[in-house]
Amino acid sequence: MIGITSYGAYIPRLRLDRSAIYRSMGWFAPALIAVAQGERSMCNWDEDSVTMAVAASRDCLSGKDKNTIDGVYMASTTMPFADRQNSGIVSTALNLSEDIITSDFTASQKIGSTALITALESIKSQDRHNILVSAADKRETKGAYFYEMWFGDGAASLLVGDTDVIAEYKGSYSVSCDFVDHYRGSDNEYDYVWEERWQRDEGYAKIIPKAVNGLMKKIGITMDDVDKLVYPCYFKRDHGTIAKKLGATPEKVVDNMHEVCGETGAAHCILMFVAALEQAKPGDGILMAGFGQGCNALYFKVTENIKKLAPRQGFKGSLENKLTTDNYLRYLKFRGLIKTEMGIRAEAPTQTAMTTLWRNRKMILGFVGGKCTSCGTAQFPKTGVCVNPECGAVKSQADYEFADIPSKIKTFTSDLLAVSVDPPHKYGMVQFEGGGRMMADFTDCITEDLKVGLPMNMTFRIHGQDKNRGFVNYFWKAVPVPGAAEQMDKINFHNKVAIITGAGGGLGRVYALELARAGAKVVINDLGGAPDGSGKGSASPAQTVVDEIIKSGGKAVANYDNVATPEGGENIVKTAIDAFGRVDILINNAGILRDKSFIKQDGKTWNPVLDVHLNGAFNVTRPAFKAMKVQGFGRIVMTTSAAGLYGNFGQTNYSTAKLGIVGLMNTLKIEGAKYNIKINTIAPIAASRLTREVMPPEIFEKSKPEFVSPMVLYLCSEDCNETGQIFNAGLGFFNRAAVLTGHGLQIGNPENPPTPEMIHENFDKINDMTNAKEMTDATSAVFALIDPPSDREESAEEDADGGDMDPAGLFKRMPDVFKKEAAAGVDVVFQFNIKGPKGGEWIVAVKDKECDIKPGAAQNPNCTLTMSDDNFVKLFTGVMTSMQAFSSGKLSLDGDIMKSQLIEKIFDLNL
Ligand code: NAD
Repeated sequence: MIGITSYGAYIPRLRLDRSAIYRSMGWFAPALIAVAQGERSMCNWDEDSVTMAVAASRDCLSGKDKNTIDGVYMASTTMPFADRQNSGIVSTALNLSEDIITSDFTASQKIGSTALITALESIKSQDRHNILVSAADKRETKGAYFYEMWFGDGAASLLVGDTDVIAEYKGSYSVSCDFVDHYRGSDNEYDYVWEERWQRDEGYAKIIPKAVNGLMKKIGITMDDVDKLVYPCYFKRDHGTIAKKLGATPEKVVDNMHEVCGETGAAHCILMFVAALEQAKPGDGILMAGFGQGCNALYFKVTENIKKLAPRQGFKGSLENKLTTDNYLRYLKFRGLIKTEMGIRAEAPTQTAMTTLWRNRKMILGFVGGKCTSCGTAQFPKTGVCVNPECGAVKSQADYEFADIPSKIKTFTSDLLAVSVDPPHKYGMVQFEGGGRMMADFTDCITEDLKVGLPMNMTFRIHGQDKNRGFVNYFWKAVPVPGAAEQMDKINFHNKVAIITGAGGGLGRVYALELARAGAKVVINDLGGAPDGSGKGSASPAQTVVDEIIKSGGKAVANYDNVATPEGGENIVKTAIDAFGRVDILINNAGILRDKSFIKQDGKTWNPVLDVHLNGAFNVTRPAFKAMKVQGFGRIVMTTSAAGLYGNFGQTNYSTAKLGIVGLMNTLKIEGAKYNIKINTIAPIAASRLTREVMPPEIFEKSKPEFVSPMVLYLCSEDCNETGQIFNAGLGFFNRAAVLTGHGLQIGNPENPPTPEMIHENFDKINDMTNAKEMTDATSAVFALIDPPSDREESAEEDADGGDMDPAGLFKRMPDVFKKEAAAGVDVVFQFNIKGPKGGEWIVAVKDKECDIKPGAAQNPNCTLTMSDDNFVKLFTGVMTSMQAFSSGKLSLDGDIMKSQLIEKIFDLNL
């Protein structure tokens, strides 16, 4: 069987809104309004038929072995070179073997279909097995012209061959005649076009049916055997009329793409054919016709292999990746239709040395660098000595193609001084995955698109033109991966490994699916028991979720261990490390219920619930925490419950375990802080087998786990800086729950301890939660008891909140409270970094019993004190000692921290 084995398409990203042409030139050519709908594709200034053919061919070769290609045919009426084989440039850019045939097909709009027939016939001869046919056109027209509206730029490629055929070639029929509806003389820039009526009535309407009917007769088919009919015709109404004439119903006719990109010349019938293939199913018959000085008609039958094609951009993807402009002048500039001053810098010599180009053709056109066979270092360009300083091997580099390797922006600039047809000139360093980096020009983007870390694709483009000699220089540029900037702004989990316990169903399953969808590699742990934890357990729930993730392209492994045992916990973490090398995220979610009122609770209801929830959280978190500590990154989400936070009848066991988990978090947040391990707790409400019996059916229906999972994913993300918090989440409602400590009251004194009667007397005040506060840790809570807030502190707080006692004022007053004598022999420079709205930087230098206080940053301070503006006020008004401030985390010290103790010695801190 011979036929099409793959397809690809390329439409330039830029589109020109046709109404912009009319808006600019309607005053001059009012009739343009008749065709000023939709948009046409337009090449960037650095694109031509060759670059578009390379782009469509790269798309076509997705998933194909390019070493098997034994021919490249390029079809175009706008070849950049009249005598230098354009298909040869395409072949070199694609890095194909030099041991193949290349040929250019030109001088007619039907030439894409002619090249295709020629390739198919060559395959038939069995001398060649895989030929790449690429058709591309970038036709020039004068400005404010109908044809400027009708035409678009684009390319399409087909691989034809005799294995893995996706559309079997059944035959062709050609009509060749010197019908001249338009022509372009060898020395002319633009087409000369005869009357439209002539083209329509004598050309399209007669010649296409003649070829199509001739083919149907020749191979013995009727229009019933045609599911998709492809033929170009930029006159919209006539496009439909031809179908009628051929007896084809409108749904068979493939759209002529006028609204979305315009007619792409010699590429158009192939491009429309690619659009048809994208929609086709096995068994479909596709009849394609290419028009121009006659007509070629070809018939194909789609095979089952079409389902096996590797993913690609195709016509649809290319069409969707667009940037529409209404700047008609930009279009004119890119096509050289207006002359602008380019400045002296643009006058640099542009001649290309053919010797250098020949010697470096693989590097320049094929984008081939080197990979050291000794140490594996990749580099561009390839050099005699390996760039790895620890290797330095000589002549060790094998060819290494960079064109398809994913890369990211490492640095970039947008340069308004550099010469550019599309200023500012954007360029920068791109870093390739697996090694190698280069300075590259960026194209098809605006400065606002660019950011460090943005994934880029490499694209073959015009580097510069030697207009005097008619030479085009090509090289590779970087272009942002479509949609990558938006993706970067999204929370993602690429390169993150997550463990979710109890992920075989309910909430855990949804957390796992969402994390995998956002790029995480996940370990699905589930024992698979009954809701009360009884039963032997089963691999099936975890495995089903793993299968679901893998089917949608994610990465997951199953684990069936019991979280309630230390070995189970160890093994769950080991599963992650064995499968994916690390663990970044842990969601302790596994849970069971054994509800009984308190008196009826016994060891059988109490212990298993504590084992799964509380001990389970300990068993898995400990080994995970160990791995996270080494990595210096970790996100842990614990699962509590309203029953634990607030109490619920019949759930003493469950409430105890669930609040125990909060205690575990409270301390772990402190132990993990240094290692960038953030740990938070979720209190979910969601429909699951645990809540089916207790939730009213209408609430059960609405309580999808998907309304909880966004909070859990956020808490698992790098973007989350929160730690030690509890969040309620359910039905899309989210809030924070916290333990609050009341303002309280000091009763009694060291000589007279308080009595129960005094407590009774003051109970309302003790019990009052007005202005209650959260404590960051036990130390702050204990300090609050040892040194309860005084009236003085409250007034200082008020001042800090809006009074006139701000850091700037206090620094001004500091020299007044400087204790000269106490400063004898002291030589120190303090740097104060005060945060908050009233903050700033101040230097306090003390030497020879003198103090010098001024705003700014010291070169080499002995000790740096960082605190918030309100805490500074408290410290310097004596309501808080520096020891209190330091131990409660309100003051952080850098440098010689012992020197900070001098502050209270040399200043009277009762400002
Ligand atoms: P669920 O029963 O659907 O999910 C819990 C999963 O944990 C089950 O698949 C179960 O097989 C698994 N599991 C049980 N014991 C295990 C063990 N020893 N080792 C490994 N896996 C085990 O219930 P769910 O509602 O999705 O509950 C998830 C978590 O959320 C639980 O911790 C639960 O207490 C908590 N929670 C849920 C709600 C809610 O409204 N659904 C409310 C508050 C708290």
